[in-house]
Amino acid sequence: MECIFCKIVNREVSADIVYEDEKIIAFKDIKPKAPVHLLIVPKKHIASVNHVEIEDKELMGDLILTAQKIARNMKLEGYNLQVNIGRTAGQIIDHLHIHLLSENLKI
Ligand code: 5GP
Ligand code: ZN
Repeated sequence: MECIFCKIVNREVSADIVYEDEKIIAFKDIKPKAPVHLLIVPKKHIASVNHVEIEDKELMGDLILTAQKIARNMKLEGYNLQVNIGRTAGQIIDHLHIHLLSENLKI
C-alpha cells in the first residue's frame, strides 16, 4: 500500500492521533499552518472529493460531525475546514481529508 494516510490508519507510519473511531481517524498535520492544524480522514481510501460515491454519503456527513466534535472538545472558538481537490488546488495527498485549522482556543 503506497498511500501515506492508509499507512497511518494501519499504524505503519506514526502520527499524532487525536481522534479515532471505526470509520474515521484524525491527527495533527506534520507541517501545521496554524496553532491547531488537524487532518480528519476517512479510514476508507477515497482519492478525493471527486471520487466520492453515493455509498459514501453517510461517511461524508460523519466527517463533518467529527470535525464539530473535535472542535467542541478542544473548545475552539472558531475554526476553518478546508478540502483541497486536485493538484492545482493544492492537494498533495490523494486520500480524502479535511483540514481543521484554528488560531485560538477558548481557554
Ligand atoms: P493536501 O495539500 O493534500 O490537502 O494536504 C496534505 C497535508 O498532509 C499537508 O498539510 C501535509 O503537511 C500533511 N502531511 C503530509 N504527509 C504527512 C504525514 O506523513 N503525516 C502527517 N501527520 N501529515 C502529513
Ligand atoms: Zn489511502
